[in-house]
Amino acid sequence: MTRSDLARIRLFLFDLDGTLYLGERLFPFTPELLRTIRETGRRYLFLTNNSSKSVGDYVAKLVRLGISAEAADFLTSSQATAWYLTNTMPGARLYVCGTASLREELAAAGFQIVNDEPDAAECVVMGYDTELTYQKLLDVSRLLTERPGLPYVATNPDLVCPTEWGFVPDCGSVCGMIQTATGRVPKVVGKPEPLMIRLAMERTGIPPEQCAVVGDRIYTDVKSGLNAGIAGILVLSGETTPEILEASADKPSLVLSDAGEIIKQLT
Ligand SMILES: [Mg+2]
Repeated sequence: MTRSDLARIRLFLFDLDGTLYLGERLFPFTPELLRTIRETGRRYLFLTNNSSKSVGDYVAKLVRLGISAEAADFLTSSQATAWYLTNTMPGARLYVCGTASLREELAAAGFQIVNDEPDAAECVVMGYDTELTYQKLLDVSRLLTERPGLPYVATNPDLVCPTEWGFVPDCGSVCGMIQTATGRVPKVVGKPEPLMIRLAMERTGIPPEQCAVVGDRIYTDVKSGLNAGIAGILVLSGETTPEILEASADKPSLVLSDAGEIIKQLT
């Protein structure tokens, strides 16, 4: 696609860090970009792979940065996991290796959480568990070993999560530990898999040719768009350098220096 094709996009699916802000610093174009999308009758959603925080935590962060936001503006890998499980095993009993907020979200979607009684589980769900204990690793390993057919789902494949001082292990790293121990590999929900994008399209009713993902990572953001059959737009305001882009086998539908470039195509 070219820059002028941006005018046909009715739903923008934005990555957050590196795309609309960097750490605690809002990009100067972000308020005008979001306002322009709404004022021209378009829509946006914020997409995040992080399943350790609740939507409320994210709303609070955007409001702190000066962006008005509400829960309905977000689509998280936790929500997409609840949606996937509702479509494949509604009401199932789940063993959840995740935070209290992930357990609450899944319980609210009609699932019974059986962490106190692991043998009752009909599915194991792995999230980005900042409340991880060895007992959970033990329970998950035993369940997946004793019951080779037991469904096993991970909210997101990220190996690490950035902090102010470096990286900490994310869901993908813990799944790697479990794989080393048991040989089991989960069905993954978050980016770069297309499920979150499909949920966004289902929620809004906007067809694929009018949707675009906008993000700063090729291997998660852009790829999730391409995997779902929609435009994957790369912005060079975050993690991806021109060298990384050059070396990547996956090519974005469009490359922008930052998401602020979208504004003038919509007005
Ligand atoms: Mg990002």
